[in-house]
Amino acid sequence: MDQLLVKDIARQRIELLFEMADKIYRQYPDLAQRYIDLARKIGMRCRVKIPSWLKRRICKHCKSFLIPGVNCRVRLRTNRFPHLVITCLKCGRQMRYPYKIGGKSAKKV
Ligand SMILES: [Zn+2]
Repeated sequence: MDQLLVKDIARQRIELLFEMADKIYRQYPDLAQRYIDLARKIGMRCRVKIPSWLKRRICKHCKSFLIPGVNCRVRLRTNRFPHLVITCLKCGRQMRYPYKIGGKSAKKV
């Protein structure tokens, strides 16, 4: 099959899995985590990068699915350079994401 097509389908499935995980997280957090693991596996197998706004929903350290206000804390910091600090409440570690003021990159976290 066409490589480009495979990647396109993979990308769609990854986005769909995140969307589904988001919807069911409150009722079935374990299942949501399985969707995220699956999305990561699809990404690795098809060599498709997970889009940056979805990547922020996964803890870099323990790979947990992160829901702002539920299992992670999101703070804006502007010292030195503007960045987002996301604290995973599962493993307690932090991730930093720089963003541009007025840019679109800071949305959807
Ligand atoms: Zn974590």
